[in-house]
Amino acid sequence: MPNPIPLGVFGFPAGHILSPVLHNKAAEELGLDYHYLAYEVHPDYLEEAVRGARAMGFRGLTITIPHKVAVVKFMDELSEDARLMGAVNTIIFEEDGRLIGHNTDGIGWLRFLEETTGEHPREKKCLVLGAGGAARAIAVKIAQCGAAHLEIRNRTYEKAMELAHFVEKSVPSSKVKGGGLDDLYSAADGCEIIVNTTSLGMWGNAERMATPPIPEDAIPNGCICSDAVYIPPDTEFLKAARRAGAQIVHGTGWLVYQAAAAWKMWTGVDMPTDIVMEVLHEALELRLGIEG
Ligand code: NAP
Repeated sequence: MPNPIPLGVFGFPAGHILSPVLHNKAAEELGLDYHYLAYEVHPDYLEEAVRGARAMGFRGLTITIPHKVAVVKFMDELSEDARLMGAVNTIIFEEDGRLIGHNTDGIGWLRFLEETTGEHPREKKCLVLGAGGAARAIAVKIAQCGAAHLEIRNRTYEKAMELAHFVEKSVPSSKVKGGGLDDLYSAADGCEIIVNTTSLGMWGNAERMATPPIPEDAIPNGCICSDAVYIPPDTEFLKAARRAGAQIVHGTGWLVYQAAAAWKMWTGVDMPTDIVMEVLHEALELRLGIEG
C-alpha cells in the first residue's frame, strides 16, 4: 500500500503546534489519504527543509513562526495576499516542481468574521492592537477590504509606525495611522471592529493571561471584537468585550479557517470546519487541563 501523501508544518519551536490535529481530523473525516506532521526546522536550514519536502513528495506545507517572511525568497510564485503581506503561511508544491507561496491568515480571519457576524470591514472604522506577524496579515486584509479608517496601536511605537507605512505601501488606496498603547480611548472611539493581535490574554503566563489589551470601558457598545489569541478560547479581551455589549469573534475560528483555506488549496475539498472546531476545542481543553 502506498504511503499517505505528506503534508506538514515548519516552525521553530514546533512542539506546541496544533495544526496536525486539525488537518489529520479533516483527512480522517473525509477518508482522504493525507498525513500531516509538525517539524521543528531551525532558521539556518529553512531552504534545505523546503526543498527536501519537495523532493519527498509533499503536497503542501504550513509555515509558521519564525519562518513566514524568510520563506518568501524560496518561492517561485506568490499569491496576491502573500505578495501584499510579504509573508507566506502556506506552500503548494505543484506537479511541475514549482513552489507557490500563499497567505491564508487574512482570508481565514475575514471568512470567519463574515460567517460569525455577517459584517465586513468595508467602510468601517477599524483598530488593530499589535504590530507583529498576525497584525501584518490582518491590517493588510482590512486595508484591502476598503476600511474607512485603520489605526494600528502597539506597545513598541516604532513597530506600529513601520507596519502602518508597510500597509499603506502594499495597499496604496489605504490611509493607516500608527501609534503606541497610550490613550486607547480615543483610538477606540466610534470603532466598529477591534482586532487584538498582541499576545496579551494568552495562556502560559498568569500575568499575560489576565491582562486585556484594551480597557473594558474603551470598547464601544455594538463593536465587533476579534481576538487572535485562541488559548484559552475565551480570553479576557473577549470577556470584557461581551460585558461591553460587543460582538465576539474567537481566535479558534480564525485558526480553523486559515487552516481550511490551505486544506482546500492542497486537496481541492472543503474542510469539515464544524468537526475540526470540535477537535480543536478538545485539544485546547486537554492542554489547559494538563499544563494550566
Ligand atoms: P509576534 O509577531 O511575536 O507579535 C506579538 C505582538 O504582541 C507584538 O505586537 C508585541 O508588541 C505584542 N505584545 C507582546 N507582549 C506584550 C505585552 N506584554 N503588552 C503589550 N503588547 C505585547 O506574534 P504574532 O505571530 O503576531 O502572534 C500574536 C498572537 O496571535 C499570538 O497569541 C498567536 O498565537 C496569535 N495568532 C493567532 C492566529 C490564529 O489563527 N488565531 C494566527 C496568528 C497568530 P511589541 O512589538 O511591542 O513586542
